[in-house]
Amino acid sequence: MEKDLVPAAYLDRMLSELIFLRKWLRGAVDLLFPAACPVCGTNLPPGGQILCSPCLQDVALIRSPLCSVCGRELPDSTAGDHCCGRCLRKSPPYISARGVGHYQSPLSGLLHRLKYQGETSVLPALRDVIDLLPPFVLQEEERIVPVPLYASRLRQRGFNQALVLAKLFFPTRKDHILVDTLVRVRHTIPQTGLDGIARRKNLHQAFSVRFPERVRRRTIVLVDDVFTTGTTVSECSRMLLRAGADEVRVLTLARVRE
Ligand SMILES: [Zn+2]
Ligand SMILES: [Zn+2]
Repeated sequence: MEKDLVPAAYLDRMLSELIFLRKWLRGAVDLLFPAACPVCGTNLPPGGQILCSPCLQDVALIRSPLCSVCGRELPDSTAGDHCCGRCLRKSPPYISARGVGHYQSPLSGLLHRLKYQGETSVLPALRDVIDLLPPFVLQEEERIVPVPLYASRLRQRGFNQALVLAKLFFPTRKDHILVDTLVRVRHTIPQTGLDGIARRKNLHQAFSVRFPERVRRRTIVLVDDVFTTGTTVSECSRMLLRAGADEVRVLTLARVRE
């Protein structure tokens, strides 16, 4: 079962506090105990953001012009968003992919702490990063699907970072998140260091849709932490489309520069 092992109530409470209470609660606490930026350790002014302004400015946002399909930054700054040559030659199974920032410091460090050190305390800082861009709009009929972890990895980590990020992206639409729907049915080795063919082979038949009726005739917003080559989200998209989804939009917090 694709479920948080860190109690979901704890994460939900944390997120609610983050959205609704954070500023005035922190304002009171900061008078007594000045908060420090989780990246550089600088003391923060009371009641403000979680990351200090210089660290926030260090986040390299992904900016137009983008490929209107795969979402990568395009070098030509005069033409506006358009479909890149690669997507023209071979359309990915998803209709669009978008990311917030490039996978580099300080965003990469924060994500690493979340994933590998289980530091859920970095979530408010990640929310600050998400807030750098206009909010991602979710249509009422759309559903959110996090890229799942395999059961043993989930047990080891205690939570699925993609699910936690889905809640962070859409804090008021948690009821639109389909949790046990897309599942990882076999263990796969980490994709890092594999070439394109090996990546696809590694993920072949790794995912399955357990409740196709939940995705049928819907647009799915597929959420993951990092977009590297797109192999994982492509494989997930194929499974969702095969299960009857109309289309898949991909949303990741970070994206590895090519
Ligand atoms: Zn800082
Ligand atoms: Zn493209």
